[in-house]
Amino acid sequence: MSHVSIRQLLKNFDGKPPTVAVDHLDLEIEDGEFLVLLGPSGCGKTTTLRCLAGLEQPASGSITLGDQVVYDGARGVNLPPDKRFIGMVFQSYALWPHMTVRKNIAYPLKSRKLTDALASGRVEETAALVDCERLLDRLPAELSGGQQQRVALARGLVSHPDLVLFDEPLSNLDARLRDQVRAELHDLHQRKPFTAVFVTHDQSEALALGTRMAIMRAGRIVQIGPPREVFEEPVDEYVAGFTGMSNRLPCEYVDGRWYALGTEIHGTQPGTVAAGEFVLRLRPEKIRLVTDVADLLPGEAGVAVTVDDVEYGGLHFDVMCSVVGDGAVRRQLHARIPTFDSARTPRTVNRGATMIFAFDPRDART
Ligand code: ATP
Repeated sequence: MSHVSIRQLLKNFDGKPPTVAVDHLDLEIEDGEFLVLLGPSGCGKTTTLRCLAGLEQPASGSITLGDQVVYDGARGVNLPPDKRFIGMVFQSYALWPHMTVRKNIAYPLKSRKLTDALASGRVEETAALVDCERLLDRLPAELSGGQQQRVALARGLVSHPDLVLFDEPLSNLDARLRDQVRAELHDLHQRKPFTAVFVTHDQSEALALGTRMAIMRAGRIVQIGPPREVFEEPVDEYVAGFTGMSNRLPCEYVDGRWYALGTEIHGTQPGTVAAGEFVLRLRPEKIRLVTDVADLLPGEAGVAVTVDDVEYGGLHFDVMCSVVGDGAVRRQLHARIPTFDSARTPRTVNRGATMIFAFDPRDART
């Protein structure tokens, strides 16, 4: 059993000013679940992992791994890292440079005296799982970054630990390798589920890998759920911003019409009169840019914008624009639009053009 239960975990750091890195955190992780912790720099992700691993002593709370209490502040229980059955894979691969790949992968088995597993070919089996069995006799210096990361992965998994902790393990890889190792990790977990906590600040990694994802802010979890649920139904503006709803469009109702930053909203009105005033959160990918109000689709709202900048991204343009008439405050909005239209005709978007920033209010969150 490798169910993980974290109750009211508190971790402070002394300093000027003192920091509450993990603030009375509650978290239940099911057996075989791949939980991703997502949040901005400094929100407490790594400290949470380090408390789980026993590398950091919390101030209070409790952590249970399977049926073993590994930390309980009230009862004075705090098992050292080597007494917790946890595998770790970090951002820096941290392989022993003087040991072959085989010895690196075998290291947790040796240090845990799992001699049966060592003898039964577990190293080779785990190396095969991450596709590095051909590298077993090489030294880390003779491997590429992606190969080193796969070896680190094998070392984290080889002892079949109760829990595997990942701290941004893909962030040192270039974009292509990151995608490849991420896909391999996902496939591996699908084939042979293990309980994992994976820390990242990369939204796409969290969406791709997580059975559930937890969004952290200032040492607490603000939303937890399946990636699709968190992505589509963010509970507040913080989560919305963190999961890609990067546009903020303040709307207000004046004299019978809706306005965004002082400019009239055409087409479908974004709110009810009772709402009065609010900020809409919109995903750049859900925006259409059209040349005229008459081009709005049924159900769409649109506001006139000036195109400030256009970046070509291969399959899409990133278009930065600002609401026409947004006088003193030029607030940049972002539309990510395909470089081909629905008839597969290449599109162009010109800097300086006036266009209609079109959105469906049903795609927006407040
Ligand atoms: P990142 O994504 O940048 O790695 P994080 O979410 O993992 O950030 P933590 O490293 O857990 O954040 O840090 C949480 C808070 O605790 C931060 O404010 C950080 O400055 C503070 N902190 C972490 N380690 C220490 C330490 N050893 N001493 C003092 N403060 C610390």
